[in-house]
Amino acid sequence: AALGQIFAIMQEIVTQHIGNMNRDMGKVVNFIRLLDMPERTGTEGETDFARGVAAKDISFTYPGRDKPAIKNVSLEIAEGETIAIVGENGAGKSTLVRLLTGIYRPSEGKVFIGGLDTAVASPASVYKGVSGVFQKYQRYKMTLKENVAISDVSAEAGAEKIHSVLSEADFEMGDIKLDDMLSPEFGGIDLSGGQWQRIAIARGLYRVNGFIVLDEPTSAIDPIEETKIYKQFEQLAKGKCAVVVTHRLGSAKLAHRIVVMDGGEIVDIGTHEELMSHPGKYATMWEKQAQWYERAEDCVPAQLPV
Ligand code: ADP
Repeated sequence: AALGQIFAIMQEIVTQHIGNMNRDMGKVVNFIRLLDMPERTGTEGETDFARGVAAKDISFTYPGRDKPAIKNVSLEIAEGETIAIVGENGAGKSTLVRLLTGIYRPSEGKVFIGGLDTAVASPASVYKGVSGVFQKYQRYKMTLKENVAISDVSAEAGAEKIHSVLSEADFEMGDIKLDDMLSPEFGGIDLSGGQWQRIAIARGLYRVNGFIVLDEPTSAIDPIEETKIYKQFEQLAKGKCAVVVTHRLGSAKLAHRIVVMDGGEIVDIGTHEELMSHPGKYATMWEKQAQWYERAEDCVPAQLPV
């Protein structure tokens, strides 16, 4: 679990601090050393998202494990396409996302982000194009403004843009000002888990680029709010390469294609209608979830007022 935590923190540092590469790259490199992951220096290059994002026959095994977490996965995400990844716990969804964003390197196969081969391109070139909102979000002891614009603190972060992403993420400003210090330590403002999660989403929105990833960021948010966030994500993902990892099939249904994972492999792929048209893991999962909801159509939970 501790190792998973470090991976998660590393993941957020890599994707959110990219604008501060010079300052933070040292930290990232140290994490990579610590984890015995290959250290990466590489050629500079420009991402071109007309070339999409692609995984070609990739496999990945966590250090110290003998079973691969990802086995022979190939997937292409075109510009303007949103892919949802679904599957049971441990199916490999988060690992696949970490591989697709270039955070982990596959032990076999190749990942291309905006045409750049992540095995040879420099991390800075690769991550410039990637924006992620991840499960494990950070609560930075910084001002609200810095919490959102963390990828861009050196630049004069525009208040208008920060307000706009906070409002897109449905963050309730209340009496809070952009320059207020957050986190109760140092006498800062404490926020609820849901509010912190919305900041993490705003942080992802702030640096939206050619490839946008949403990895179940909504665990502290109720299901109705969650559905709303996925719908907003759909708007943001327009014209980009996008991936969402979700347990909620009502959200997955909104994607152009749904990837069904089991035991580290892609076992099915298609639209909601295609996947429902034959017996399989997706149809079984959908039937199971439909029982939890009054209206399976939009997966509105029965126990909450609509
Ligand atoms: P999902 O996101 O679908 O729940 P994961 O990608 O988190 O699945 O996990 C896939 C497999 O890899 C599981 O068997 C899990 O135990 C293992 N795994 C995940 N993270 C780590 C880690 N940091 N170290 C070792 N094994 C891991």
